[in-house]
Amino acid sequence: MNIIILGPQGCGKGTQAKLLAEKLNLAHIEMGAALREQAKEETPLGEKIDEIINKKGELVPDDLIAEVIREAIRKVPEDKGIILDGAPRKISQIKIVENSFRENNRQLDKVIFINLSEEESINRITKRAHCSKCGKNLIIGKDIDKVDNNCPDCEGGVTQRKDDTMEGLKRRLAIFKQETVPVIKYYEDKGMLMEVDGGQGVEKVFNSITTKLN
Ligand code: AMP
Repeated sequence: MNIIILGPQGCGKGTQAKLLAEKLNLAHIEMGAALREQAKEETPLGEKIDEIINKKGELVPDDLIAEVIREAIRKVPEDKGIILDGAPRKISQIKIVENSFRENNRQLDKVIFINLSEEESINRITKRAHCSKCGKNLIIGKDIDKVDNNCPDCEGGVTQRKDDTMEGLKRRLAIFKQETVPVIKYYEDKGMLMEVDGGQGVEKVFNSITTKLN
């Protein structure tokens, strides 16, 4: 099974993609994480990506996205399905994803859209943090009091994503509306879309997804 998962910032698509990958034995291709890794490289390309994703909060150019997607899909064993998290994010990327699947004899089965209001998106992102040592996702005000606290599991330092500033978030939400909503509409028109309410808790969202997939 090959699935795409999309949704606005803070909808929990990364969490749900991880859970689905475990349950259905899928390879999880996480575009944002792959790009954040590249942004750490001290190379001209790494610096360019860092500038785009962490400072400007814009979308990375399609030629680079094509390279990342193609390479990631190529590496997945033939007998394993894929959950592609975070692409296509604009109409021009639909072809890129379709071609990458086709080149590897794969067919897209479903597109999951986790919907979330803008208000809840902002609410969640401003509270989002993670442990820089064990990677655990943490919610400020629930798992920790403030970012200066240490990870309750491993005592590692807590940090927030560089692009999770209010200004960066507003820009990314505007891009979502302008560029990604038309992609969602495209798959809806093709009858491939499965919409889930992301305002519920993690377990409920996961149950809704698995029930609808069955
Ligand atoms: P995310 O972790 O999904 O919020 O993605 C973080 C950032 O990576 C985005 O704000 C974009 O700058 C970049 N990014 C992720 N996926 C894509 C994509 N499909 N096309 C262009 N840029 C992307």
